[in-house]
Amino acid sequence: HTFQELGLPNEVLNGLMAMSFQKPSKVQEKALPLMLADPPMNMIAQSQSGTGKTAAFVTTILSRIDFTKPEQPQALVLAPSRELARQIQGVVQTIGQFCGNLVVEAAIPGNIARDSRVKASVVTGTPGTVMDLIRRRQFDVSQLKVLVIDEADNMLDLQGLGEQCARVKNMLPPTIQILLFSATFPDVVLRYATNFAPQANQIKL
Ligand code: AMP
Repeated sequence: HTFQELGLPNEVLNGLMAMSFQKPSKVQEKALPLMLADPPMNMIAQSQSGTGKTAAFVTTILSRIDFTKPEQPQALVLAPSRELARQIQGVVQTIGQFCGNLVVEAAIPGNIARDSRVKASVVTGTPGTVMDLIRRRQFDVSQLKVLVIDEADNMLDLQGLGEQCARVKNMLPPTIQILLFSATFPDVVLRYATNFAPQANQIKL
């Protein structure tokens, strides 16, 4: 299979070409058709790091964004560390370099001033900071279409981060598409994940 056959927007295809990705990796080949399906369906994907999972969810996000609303948050990616949130922000910017008006912001500690609003179509961040921004009404979540939880095994561990992820999710539109990515899904995490992302397609490499 090729990226062309997945029906991706040309701007996104050009971004993938600029990365010199010749063809979809295994996880991309399995996950992308399911994640891009209409109506959108939730996804629980198990895949080691290094297999192309970031590009998989970034491609999905970029295919769902309305680029005429660059300052309206439309996709949110939650990650366990600010470094990873920054890294994902970079991947969105690189693959999205031909997507015209694309603004990507990192909602991590210290990055969004107390009196300013999140003005980006894609937001990557850590759960605590994202939760604070939503509560202080600095982050308008009403138009979010996609929620990604990266490293879900570290995020949905039911303690600290897991609770914050659940609180964030409860403040988002109920119809949001939820994509969970993780290298491993221990039983307890998988049970939590299937509840967090109802009726999700599940793939495992
Ligand atoms: P990740 O699994 O997100 O940590 O990605 C691992 C590495 O694979 C990154 O350096 C990507 O640039 C690269 N990568 C992702 N998708 C592809 C692809 N389709 N072809 C070649 N390399 C890729």
